[in-house]
Amino acid sequence: MRFDTHIHTKRSPCSGMSPKKPVKTAEKRGLDVAVVLDHNEIEGGREARRFAEETRSKLKIELGCELTTEFGELVPSPIN
Ligand SMILES: [Zn+2]
Repeated sequence: MRFDTHIHTKRSPCSGMSPKKPVKTAEKRGLDVAVVLDHNEIEGGREARRFAEETRSKLKIELGCELTTEFGELVPSPIN
């Protein structure tokens, strides 16, 4: 199984990608799973998941969130 566990969309300040772009890129690279892990929110991941479902992609989009805390950035387990 091929996967990427740390993808950001433009909803994160460090990325300019639309939520569709990670889906298209992951498909081209033959990934099975991609975790969209925006900073402090999950809407980019939801949009990417919706796009993957609408286009009947075989790619599974998991939702995650990179949380900004006083101790630094934390990545909890993916959200189902
Ligand atoms: Zn990150």
